[in-house]
Amino acid sequence: MSKSLRLSEKWFRRGLWLVAIVFASFLIGLGSAVVGDLPQVEQVRGLDDFIDRSAAEPLRATVQAAETTERQAGSELEQAELQLGAAQQASQNARETFANWIATRRATERPDQDRELITRTQALDAFKADEDKAQRRVGTQQQIALDARQAGERAREQLAVLERAANDQLRAEYRRVELRVFGLRLALTLPLLVIAGWLFVKKRKSTYWPFVWGFIFFALFAFFVELVPYLPSYGGYVRYIVGIVVTVLIGRYAIVALNTYLARQKLAEAQPDQLRREELSYDTALVRLGKSVCPGCERPVDLKNADIDFCPHCGIGLFDHCGPCDTRKSAFSKFCHACGSAAGTRHPASTVLAPAP
Ligand SMILES: [Zn+2]
Ligand SMILES: [Zn+2]
Repeated sequence: MSKSLRLSEKWFRRGLWLVAIVFASFLIGLGSAVVGDLPQVEQVRGLDDFIDRSAAEPLRATVQAAETTERQAGSELEQAELQLGAAQQASQNARETFANWIATRRATERPDQDRELITRTQALDAFKADEDKAQRRVGTQQQIALDARQAGERAREQLAVLERAANDQLRAEYRRVELRVFGLRLALTLPLLVIAGWLFVKKRKSTYWPFVWGFIFFALFAFFVELVPYLPSYGGYVRYIVGIVVTVLIGRYAIVALNTYLARQKLAEAQPDQLRREELSYDTALVRLGKSVCPGCERPVDLKNADIDFCPHCGIGLFDHCGPCDTRKSAFSKFCHACGSAAGTRHPASTVLAPAP
């Protein structure tokens, strides 16, 4: 893509870049549709597909039964504790009443109350017995809950061992699935990348460059969106290695391109002035002059200094004088800006309008 200063050409180029982008977006859309329609080869499997079912099922049943028992024992325990509280309260009240009665009895010293003493003591014993019974019920429920909890814990520990083994297998399976998915995507993306690389090296300046660049954008999108996120990680090894390889490839290409450019430039600078001038495109020369660099060697030169007619770096002529009118003008202009004669016109008297040789 040589630089151009023509206004329409500039806008045409911008339009063609738009064509490249639109072309790329349609390719990307088509690519995603194709990828989306691929048969979904991998169904995600779960832990249950790998666990030893014959061993795990009874353990799970045990855990569940233990939990149910524990829950039941818990609610029974609440009831029993409530009853124990009531029995203790009743017993306490009875003891206080008895103590009061005894105190009264001592004060009055009435022997006819001996029979009543026995009856009251018996009643007190009955309260105490109730209290003991409630206490035992509480103890029983606590024992049941404890047994259930311990049984559940044992079952859970055994289950955890089984699940760890199954988890290892599941992770290995995930890695295999990951690799398969990546392989499939690589098989789709790699040819695109190879074609894009070839197009970039060989065809990026061809007449149909908007399509070439559209395809390159598409391939890059496919690489970064459809392939890179599916790179298997292996603890980061693969990603870093791929990054290193890609960087080395791009860096090598840039270094080779720089050396080629420098060699070509050196060769060009060794050629005679006229030949170099012919090899430079008019528009390229104008763009470089506009940036105050020598069109021949691309090094900075002071174009405003009227004493400088030749590039001090490479010796290419920057300014010359019009044949017919002797005005100092840019050596790259095709016509004299003062008299309109074509550049290179030598004899003012006879060949003012003659074309350049
Ligand atoms: Zn130069
Ligand atoms: Zn002139």
